[in-house]
Formats: sequence, structure tokens, C-alpha cells
Amino acid sequence: MALNFYLRHNYWLLKKYKVNLSMIRNFAIISHIDHGKSTLADRFLEITNTVIQRKMRSQYLDQMDLEREKGITIKMQPVRMNYTFNSKNYILNLIDTPGHVDFSYEVSRALAAVEGAVLLIDATKGIQAQTLSNLEIAQEQNLNIIPVVNKIDLPQAQIKETKKELAFLLKISEEEILLVSAKQGTNVVQILETIITKIPAPLVEKEDEPLRALIFDSSYDSYKGVIAYVRVVGGKIKVGDVIKVFASQTESEVKEVGCFQPELITKNELLAGEIGYIATGIKEPEKIKIGDTIIILDSQNFKKISPLQGYKEPKPMVFASIYPEKADDFKLLKKALSQLKLNDSALSFELELKQTLGQGFRCGFLGLLHIEIIVERIQREFGVNLVLTTPSVIYKYTNQQGQEVFIFSSTDWPSPDKIKNAYEPWIRVEVVAPINYWGKVMEVLKNFEGKHIEINELSSAKVLLIYEMPLREMITGFYDKLKGATKGYASMNYKEIGYQTADLVKLEVLISGERQEVFSKIIPRTKLFSEGQTLVKKLKKLLPPQLFSVPIQAVIGGKIIAREDIRAKRKDVLAPLYGGDYSRKKKLLEKQKKGKKKLKARGGIKIPQKVFLEMFK
Ligand code: GDP
Ligand code: MG
Repeated sequence: MALNFYLRHNYWLLKKYKVNLSMIRNFAIISHIDHGKSTLADRFLEITNTVIQRKMRSQYLDQMDLEREKGITIKMQPVRMNYTFNSKNYILNLIDTPGHVDFSYEVSRALAAVEGAVLLIDATKGIQAQTLSNLEIAQEQNLNIIPVVNKIDLPQAQIKETKKELAFLLKISEEEILLVSAKQGTNVVQILETIITKIPAPLVEKEDEPLRALIFDSSYDSYKGVIAYVRVVGGKIKVGDVIKVFASQTESEVKEVGCFQPELITKNELLAGEIGYIATGIKEPEKIKIGDTIIILDSQNFKKISPLQGYKEPKPMVFASIYPEKADDFKLLKKALSQLKLNDSALSFELELKQTLGQGFRCGFLGLLHIEIIVERIQREFGVNLVLTTPSVIYKYTNQQGQEVFIFSSTDWPSPDKIKNAYEPWIRVEVVAPINYWGKVMEVLKNFEGKHIEINELSSAKVLLIYEMPLREMITGFYDKLKGATKGYASMNYKEIGYQTADLVKLEVLISGERQEVFSKIIPRTKLFSEGQTLVKKLKKLLPPQLFSVPIQAVIGGKIIAREDIRAKRKDVLAPLYGGDYSRKKKLLEKQKKGKKKLKARGGIKIPQKVFLEMFK
């Protein structure tokens, strides 16, 4: 009976839903941030009638509240569209990608699941730093590139120059470049047709291969477990199949398979070449790793199956600790981090205990924007208010025995006698800027300890400056300074290049004589006084007025290097009194004095969470 049903079911499937691989095109859109990827995706959704008009809103694929507010794409969002060209029906699988420097790992994951990419350039900006880095990833994956110049509707569009720049970069003729307005829809159909003619259909070697599916993303559903977003590379998969996740060796029965429209739409099976999702039923998020391979357990040649080449493991570059404001929220915070990690494999976290703050987590992030987004999502989606420590790079030292020790938090910095050599991570920075800002950019780079490596011309009007600098400098406002010095025209990208020796010390903060470990910082000795001054001044500005005078001191190895005082603010206890009852006045003032003394004896002051957050901005 069951077998009969199975056969009938499958026959029906074959007749009605058999997917013809030659009709599939898998592609991504890549660009520098704000060049119009999400807007172009909107036009695709409309032209292909994937989203009905009534539901359409701009940047449709940016479904997270935070994305809509900030106007940036954080999570890539796959979507499947149908399009008829030359009276043939095609399936177009699009993966929209984020363009910000902190999220380039998402781009590299998306690009491993597709055969081609639309490279979008804003005609008012031309080539920018992320254009170069994303193109590099696409070329590493051997993707077919479709060059497009966007925003041609704008009066300040420099269409000719942008075309020239792009042709020079890709070593192609200018005729190959499409000119579009994603906003107005001009020539967008041309892109779809070029995708069909230029990007190859997915290549599947054998029809009856065992299943291999590459996990490029995931999300979590409390009923269906981890939803793995996959590119089926070989074989096929359907409900009820028993799968195995390669790296974690986890087995499970498939609850559901389907595709993205962009909501999850159930299908009977997914075939090689397709992009879709597998509801795995697995309830432990950490068992599904981005870049891992899913296989079917009972295929006969199981032993012969090797995992697909995974993605580069994203490496955290910046560390900070997160504590719940209310100790009771600790469990909820843990849950929040586990769930966020599910579709953010670059986030790492580890239990940490601090006396002043209680139980929390030491977290690894890709950069400052990444921190900001995670903190906001935890507060917004899980309702946990947080205390965040100063972000720091990962320092390293060798001890007297010559062993290497990595430092993830300034708290763990040892006394100087324990350190033989200290090291810090360096990065290679690429800045793209108009030629007339060349000098200004070099000045900013120099102020942030940048070391000149090389300068290349991208066109007669634009240069690419390559420098090396400590990552520590990058996370102390480099980007803002660069933008400021160039009226926003310069863009940048960076990657880590390893450790170099450094002369480092630990700066500590005493408020009212009490050490505030959360504000401590590892800094280069050369910046000792300026950093100390800045820190106490900033704290003075942020701390609310107190009933008694409170000293704020910056200390290195017990030596005070900077000091500010919050002046006492006398509360007007006499206000309710009219007239001149002297003895009553005196009594009230005495009472106030006593109260202050009592507070002082208790030591410390309450630091509002706002102050922590402001300090770490
Ligand atoms: P993304 O960061 O690459 O996804 O860029 P978005 O699609 O979010 O677009 C960034 C901004 O550029 C938005 O304000 C869009 O409305 C605008 N934009 C995108 N395409 C065009 C276009 O063709 N013409 C004009 N004038 N604006 C555009
Ligand atoms: Mg976007």
C-alpha cells in the first residue's frame, strides 16, 4: 500500500513537476553598498510576478525590521522567479547579497551557490572599494559576470566615465555593459534576458548521483527545527528522506523541502541544480554549520561520498563582552545568541563571568557594524537589555616560557613582568578615492598609523590606495574620518594580514576610587596620555550629576595619568521652604550632608547603561 502510494506519487511528480535543469539560472547581485541591489531585485520580483502588486513594497527582500530602518541588507535573501523568454519558461534563482564590509563573508557564501553574478555600479559613484572586493570573490568562484551601470536616471550620473572605468577593470569592451535605472525599471528586462543567455545552466554530471547539498545559510523554526538553505549539487531530496549532516555527523528525517518565493513554499522534492530549503527537524542549531554538506544516509555508496568544498570559516576580528542588565535575563540572552548564530555563522560566543557584571558572554564579531546589529537584534527581538564592554582586537603575547597567549578581553591582560613580547593584528586597507582627494586620504591613513604599500590608478579620475595598519586603529573611527576628509567620496575595504610586534599597556579607570574593569583598555604606549585624557573627559561628560564630588582617574600600572572630577550638585532641599525659618533650614542642610556622607561611605556610583553604550560607540 505504502509502496503503491509512493510509486503513484512519484509518477505524478515526474509528469508534472520534473524540473528541466537547462531551464534554471542561479545568480547573485553584487555591488558596493547602496548601488541598488535591493531595488533591482524589486524590479525583478515585479516583472516576474513573483510578488503580487498589492504586497509589493520597496527593498522587498530586506525583511528584517532592522534592515528596513537602516536601509541596508544584512541577511541575504534567496528568491525563485519564473520568466518566459523566447516562449520558454525559465526558473531564475536570485540571491540578493549585502554589500557592507562587515558582511563580505555572506557574499562569499552566496556566490558559492550560483553560476553567475550581476555586477552593479552606481553611475554617480563609479567603482568603489566593495565593488573590487566582491568582484574578486566572484572571480575566485569562476562566476560569469554581467556588468551593469545603474541609476542612469539621475542628472548627476556619469555614465560615460563609469562605463569606461568598468570596461577597464573587467578588460571588456564598453558595448557589453548594460545601462539601467533600477528605480524606474529602464532596461531591467535586458538584464533578465542577459542572465538567461549568458549565465550557464547548473552543471550536473550524473543523473542518479547520491544527494549532496551545500548549506549556504539557515534559519530556525520551533516546529520544523533548523531550516537549511541549500544548493543541491547532486542527487535529489524529498520529505521523509533520512539525511546526515557531514561535519557534525547528525542524522535526521526531513520534515519538508521547498523553495523561496521569497516566503518558504513547500515542494515535493528538490533536484540537483536547484536552490531551496530543507526543514531538517534538527533542534540543536549548532549542529548545522554554514558550508557543510547534507547527504542521504541510506544511499548505497555512502562511503564514497565526500563533502563539498566548504566556505571559508568567517573569522571574528573584534571581541566584546555582552552582559544582561538584569541577571535574570541570562538564560534568554543565551537563547538569543544561539538563535542569532544560526544564520550568522560569523558570530561566536563563550561563557564569561565578571564580578561586577555577573554572568555574560564574550563574543567575537566581524566589525563594529556587526556588533551594533547583534546588540540591537537581541534587545529588539528578545527584549534583553545589555551591557557591552569596549570592543577590542585580539592581542597576543608570549610569556617568559615562550608560549603564545591570545587576549580576548582587556581583563585578562597580565602584569608586565609576565610578558616577553606583545603582538597585535594588522590589516591591509584598500581605499578607493577620486584623484583630487589623494592627499587628504594619505593624511588620514598616516594619522591612523597606516603604512604605504602601493597606489594604483583605476581611471584618469580615481585611485586605489593600498596601506597596512593595526586593526586597533581601524576600530577607533577610521572610517568616519576617511568619509569626513573626502566629503563621503572615499570608500574602503580591509582584510587581516597577521600579527606584528607592539608595545602595549593596560589603561584602567577608577571612578570614585573604584576600579571599573569594563572601561579598561589595552593601548599602545605611545598613546598613553591622549587615550587617558580622552577616556576621563568622555566619562565626565556622560556621567549624570552626583550628590558629592566624584573623581574619575585613568591609571596605568597604579600610576595616575589623567583625572577629571564630577562636581557635586547640591539638590535644593530648601525649595519648599518660604520665608526665613533659620533653624529649620539648618536642619535640612545637615540632613542632606549626612545623606551624602552615607552614600559616599557606600562608595561607587550607579552607572546608567546609557553611559556604557555611549562609551563604546
Ligand atoms: P543596495 O544597498 O545595493 O541594496 O541598494 P538599495 O537598493 O537599497 O538602493 C540604495 C538607494 O539607491 C535607495 O535609496 C534606492 O532608492 C536608490 N536607487 C537604487 N537604484 C536607483 C536608480 O536606478 N535610480 C535612482 N535615482 N535611485 C536608485
Ligand atoms: Mg540591499
